[in-house]
Amino acid sequence: MVTSFVLKVASRCNLNCSYCYMYNLGDKTYLKQPKFMSLDTMTTFAEKLSRYSDENGLKSFQIVFHGGEPLLYPKEFYRESIKIFREKLSDSYFDFVLQTNGVGLDEEWYSLFNELNIRVGVSIDGPKEYHDQYRVFHNGKGSYDEVRSAIQLGLDKGMHGVLSVVNLNISPQELYQEFKDLNILSFNLLLPDGHFDKLPDGIIREKVNTSNYTPYADWLIELFAIWKSDPDRPNMRFFKTLIQLIAGEEVGDQVLGLKKNGVAILETNGNLEVADSIRACYEGITRNDINIHTHEIDSVLADPLFDIYINSHQMVNEKCLNCPIYEICGGGFLLNRYSNENGFDNPTIYCHDMIKLVSYIQNDLINSLPEEVCREMDLTRVSYHEIVEELESQGPVSVQKNIKDKLLAYSLA
Ligand code: SF4
Repeated sequence: MVTSFVLKVASRCNLNCSYCYMYNLGDKTYLKQPKFMSLDTMTTFAEKLSRYSDENGLKSFQIVFHGGEPLLYPKEFYRESIKIFREKLSDSYFDFVLQTNGVGLDEEWYSLFNELNIRVGVSIDGPKEYHDQYRVFHNGKGSYDEVRSAIQLGLDKGMHGVLSVVNLNISPQELYQEFKDLNILSFNLLLPDGHFDKLPDGIIREKVNTSNYTPYADWLIELFAIWKSDPDRPNMRFFKTLIQLIAGEEVGDQVLGLKKNGVAILETNGNLEVADSIRACYEGITRNDINIHTHEIDSVLADPLFDIYINSHQMVNEKCLNCPIYEICGGGFLLNRYSNENGFDNPTIYCHDMIKLVSYIQNDLINSLPEEVCREMDLTRVSYHEIVEELESQGPVSVQKNIKDKLLAYSLA
């Protein structure tokens, strides 16, 4: 069931980040979207959400205000939007979240978000020297100084945490020190967007998913060791989720684990779509004709791409079905599996990285925990090389033909 909705309240951004999937990875359809979501669209969405809530017995929703840049949406619209949700769904619980690039996030904004009970996350890509290479204004000027001020202001004003895209050019020690210097209590990391035909910067095409080429795992393992040895470490969601999954907990998200993805995107014009970063596959891939003004929320479940997305940890390549760490990796984020040749019928571009990272953390847990606890948790040592070898031979589990056909349907070959 979809219980988390990402509302694209503004379709434009005041930054022009070089790696951004919205604007710089191959899809220009945002140009056809209205710049802002109207209150009429917001009201219609809340009405349809109320009906969807009653019909499915759902009383708890996450609403994420996103963009483009959500701080471009007028303050007054936030007051109105929250009022609309509270009125139309008076018996529901809401977790309101907003993810911003931090530019212009001042005292007034923080007061508003505290008043409306909206949790705020800020994106920063490490120390100034690196952040300013990627997160730039349209005139090329870096945004670090503004973002740092916004984070510092937010430390005692309820800022929820920060989000960074992994940049292999920053040493893990340097990145960690930056977060410590900023007194950040919670951070999360995203692997860069990309797929087999549009790899993240610096990744060597011929080496992807070949033995011993694990640049992201090597980087993340170094960061994990630094994080783990810090008695006063901030919360780090990516590592925490991996540890929980290794311990057998049923957690996860669109990247990790086997949980279904209960997230839908509401575009500024009211279109209901799949996670927007998947646009980086090719122009228009996420677009459909399902609009909140003409359709019910359930309609999005009939969109074939949405079907794959929501079941993306079940609809996986055959190698994943036979992989010893499938329950932890989940086959990876859907975008990272795409290739023009096979559509979504691939393991993720981070496959070898995941095998190495999960093996390292699992073995590290075993080294750190008493034997009886490991036995209770059914934790056994794993080896990167053994898993890689195992995946090279044909496994016993076959992928169903109808699932393979669905994954291949997005091939451009
Ligand atoms: S590690 Fe590779 S093969 Fe295993 S589940 Fe993840 S993507 Fe699939």
